[in-house]
Amino acid sequence: MKLEPLSVIGFEQVVKAQLTDQVYSLIAIHNTNRGPALGGVRFYPYPDEMAALYDVTHLAETMTYKAALADLPLGGGKSVLVGDPKKVKTPELMKKFGLFVEELHGQYITAKDVGVTLADLDIVATQTKHVAGTTSGGSGDPSMMTAYGVYQGMKACADFFWKNSDLKGKKITIQGLGGVGWELARLLKEAGAIVMACDINPLIVEKGVRELGIEALLPTECFNVTADIFSPCAMGQVINARTISQLSAHGIKIIAGSTNNALSHEQADGWRLHRELFLYAPDFVINAGGLINVACELTGYDATQARAKTEKIYSILLEIFKRSKKEDRPTSLIAHEMALEKVRAGSRKK
Ligand code: NAD
Repeated sequence: MKLEPLSVIGFEQVVKAQLTDQVYSLIAIHNTNRGPALGGVRFYPYPDEMAALYDVTHLAETMTYKAALADLPLGGGKSVLVGDPKKVKTPELMKKFGLFVEELHGQYITAKDVGVTLADLDIVATQTKHVAGTTSGGSGDPSMMTAYGVYQGMKACADFFWKNSDLKGKKITIQGLGGVGWELARLLKEAGAIVMACDINPLIVEKGVRELGIEALLPTECFNVTADIFSPCAMGQVINARTISQLSAHGIKIIAGSTNNALSHEQADGWRLHRELFLYAPDFVINAGGLINVACELTGYDATQARAKTEKIYSILLEIFKRSKKEDRPTSLIAHEMALEKVRAGSRKK
């Protein structure tokens, strides 16, 4: 297989491989100071190579920080397959992707992401052992553990903000009732919270009303209802100047959800949230449960251990909040710096 190296500042390795006439793949390894770079493969019809390169590098870098703050012996990486999975995905293509991963000799470990199923990953695993999250790996659907981590993180927010981690009676808005949002709503209802949720799929919301006892919201309403906590669990970049003022006007004080890259502009919106006295749980810290869960496969999956490691999100967030308060700087910035400190210190036996 012919690999084409791409030069990207700050990255250890970015490579491209043309897998078929129609589909090429990029693998980005951001940093392996702490261990091999683990990150899912995303199958998506990017409009051009620059858009694919932007996404794969952005996501790979976030994986470095996520793994470091979760104290995993892993670095950050990600890969993309460029094309419409509904039209161009075949078992042969997934095998070729497996061979591409194998060419990197374990520096990159792949897993599932948008557009890739468990069955696809099982095919990838026929060509390389550097895969996590397959049927035989044992960790299952990562959304469950991600939701559990967000739930723990929300309790940490409540602990810091109200000096009481109990979420009973708290009004919580969830944007997106997918894999993570649904399980989070279930955990919150179990804890006695008042849960309101929206989704662009009205059928899921109706099901949530029936089966979980949540209150239904329209997607356009979720930033405009009075609540205590806002939990973005759909798509990224939903927090910006406009939504911050909407949330502020409706009494929301805590933002804690699973969405990757929740802030539209990391620096500006981080400062905006800080100045408006919001408590923001940085996304790559609070949503690390899925990564922690799949990473546990690398040493032999044990659900109790995965759950215990995910619970540490609570204390990591408390440390970030305390440092943010002491230094009067945004939680997003503090989390970033703490992750960088861990990455620089490294821990990998080379
Ligand atoms: P999902 O695709 O299962 O669910 C997302 C839900 O959001 C869907 O039901 C979709 O209809 C809904 N949605 C999309 N746009 C919306 C909008 N504008 N308003 C309201 N609802 C909308 O995804 P998921 O696995 O639950 O992940 C949710 C978020 O968390 C994503 O941003 C994902 O990247 C992030 N995340 C997920 C995991 C994981 O383990 N699944 C881990 C880390 C981060």
